[in-house]
Amino acid sequence: MYENSGVEKVYLDKVEEIFTHHEDERGILTQAFEFALNAHSGQLRKSGEPYIIHPISVAYIIDEWGFDTESIMAGFLHDTVEDTDVTYQDVEGRFGKSVADLVDGVTKLGHVVYQSREEEQMEDLRKMFIAMAKDIRVIVIKLADCTHNIRTIEFKSVEKQRKKALEIMEIYAPLAHRLGMQSAKWELEDRSLKVLDPVGYEEIDSYLRDRSETFSKFLDRTKKDIENKLREQGVQGQVKARLKQIYSIYRKLYGQNLTFSEIYDICATRVIVKDLASCYAVLGLIHDLYTPVPGRFKDYISSPKPNGYKSLHTVVIGKEGIPFEVQIRTEEMDRTAEYGIAAHWKYKGGLKGEQKEEAFAWVRQLLENQQDVEPEEFVQSIKVDMFADEVYVFTPGGKVINLPQGSTPIDFAYAIHSEVGNSMVGARVNGKIVNFDYKLKNGEIVDIITSKTSDGPKRRWLQIVKTNSAKTKIRQWYKKERREENIEEGRTELERELRVNLLFDDFSDEEVKNKVLERLKVANLDDLYAGIGYGGMTVAKVVTKVKEEAARLAKTREALDPEKLIKKPKKPSGTNGVVIEGIDNILVKFAKCCNPLPGDRIVGFITRGSGASIHRADCPNVARGMGDGESEGRWVKAYWADTRHQTFDVPLVVEIKTRVGAISDIISVFTNMHINVGKLNGRDMEDGISRYNIEAGVNSIEQLDLLMNRIRKISGVSDVQRTHE
Ligand code: MN
Repeated sequence: MYENSGVEKVYLDKVEEIFTHHEDERGILTQAFEFALNAHSGQLRKSGEPYIIHPISVAYIIDEWGFDTESIMAGFLHDTVEDTDVTYQDVEGRFGKSVADLVDGVTKLGHVVYQSREEEQMEDLRKMFIAMAKDIRVIVIKLADCTHNIRTIEFKSVEKQRKKALEIMEIYAPLAHRLGMQSAKWELEDRSLKVLDPVGYEEIDSYLRDRSETFSKFLDRTKKDIENKLREQGVQGQVKARLKQIYSIYRKLYGQNLTFSEIYDICATRVIVKDLASCYAVLGLIHDLYTPVPGRFKDYISSPKPNGYKSLHTVVIGKEGIPFEVQIRTEEMDRTAEYGIAAHWKYKGGLKGEQKEEAFAWVRQLLENQQDVEPEEFVQSIKVDMFADEVYVFTPGGKVINLPQGSTPIDFAYAIHSEVGNSMVGARVNGKIVNFDYKLKNGEIVDIITSKTSDGPKRRWLQIVKTNSAKTKIRQWYKKERREENIEEGRTELERELRVNLLFDDFSDEEVKNKVLERLKVANLDDLYAGIGYGGMTVAKVVTKVKEEAARLAKTREALDPEKLIKKPKKPSGTNGVVIEGIDNILVKFAKCCNPLPGDRIVGFITRGSGASIHRADCPNVARGMGDGESEGRWVKAYWADTRHQTFDVPLVVEIKTRVGAISDIISVFTNMHINVGKLNGRDMEDGISRYNIEAGVNSIEQLDLLMNRIRKISGVSDVQRTHE
């Protein structure tokens, strides 16, 4: 039928397959497909194939997931408004408002000039979330779009591949999780991981491949054993056995620093039964058949996960001594686990009444929490708010409150009500008084102590709390209640930061100051200080603007200065990963007193005869040096160039209880993270503690933090420090 379109037969077959699934609506689906085919005609994908194969594949995935005709139509049409001459009105006129809104929800804003990439990404995301709050299917279209894009990612440049994979890992896979769409989430994660850490991916993939025979034998036998047991006891049920998803193995290996042999659920077995009562009956049978591992039983039926997931989980020891996980649930629970929100379309014809409200509540909450947030923080905070791992705690009255892992009693208080948070003076967990930074654990009963005479939240709470809603509420309180204090706080903070960045004098310049205020859209200096003080505006943002405006002004003034007209403008260039402003090709050394790392704020010092030495801005020698009249003028601005491919030796000191194997445990953390060990020496101290000095070849602060965190988790480690010698 579409033989002249140049589209390969496999794709046309997919279109036909979609149509046959929806015979009643074949007419309107055909119209949507032909409309897209027309709009994209002549466009090619990076692979050289006609562009339309992308919308076809997206529509096909949406159909596979079980969504309705409108969603499939939107799948066909999803790129027409963004990439062709078609307008929202065209789509609305032909296919109605809800299809047009779905398409619009995944269309990037475009035509707007942003000051930064973060800002652009944030505005696109914000737009999508607003559309989602009205119609949750928007995210389904986007997830299908991401799925096809990552399946065909190899045609993009390496840089684009990484960018897309990172975006999926950070935003879209968590969203799929939030909607309970496990299969979709697994595919997105595994494929993104392969792009982001090909070595790590291959390590796991080949481990599984090498043992595939052993694993499949084990899975087969286990499946049979359980089936026999069920039959014997007259319980109806279906047993499925599979290997764990690569990315979840990856997270255990690298996130929790486990070894392959410590991962209990590489082999996972699932028993699907008819009704709720059978779940617990089967649990008994399993524990009868195998020895359960204590403390590994989880009842997600009596307390479901926030995305609706229900199941019993238990870990048992198999006949060969291999531990494995068994999940037990009903058919309905299983459908929800696999398809999440999609199950409502696949099996129940869409969301109804209250379900609709519930499905959207978290999206609205998410948007509410983001109102006061800076672009740089937005993506970060979305991640925290959606993040998979949660704790469930109880009010003294027995109400369940879900919070992200790592939440404190303060988060709990604000989750109940702003007033509770604002008047909180203490907290009891299971009847005992705890600190404000106590990390809540599953099942604890939390009782917030409030007082009418409390003088409100403390600023340091902003550093302690985990949830953005608590942060937002604390800031709102400060914004309202403490203007004078905010101004003072903000002024001090900004001035300190300007000094460190050598921009203090620039900001005193009226012209720079006014330009900065104008760009930040604040009316006067007090408002700016107040904004910083309550946390609505980050100092970093102000400093960047001051830097830009000062540079711009210097340029204009230079251009107007006749004497300087002959001078060639200096372009900064990187040496050794560092750019020194205004000086080319200078020899750069890293100061031994503070060993700066990419990500640290840095300044340079022009030495006599041996180039520039780079210090951390917070190095005590910098503060001392800048105050010294003689050398004052030799401090220069410096910042990091692109250093992704460079490593820096950072001296660390690790204190660990003296024991056999201590050093090899430490070294294996390095090897697992592919971090080079430079110098290494150690000695045993008197009190049963060994101290090791190790040089780590790391490429960034983030990598260093991760390394230190993992070392801290080694048994017996009492201290890890970055040293200054
Ligand atoms: Mn697309």
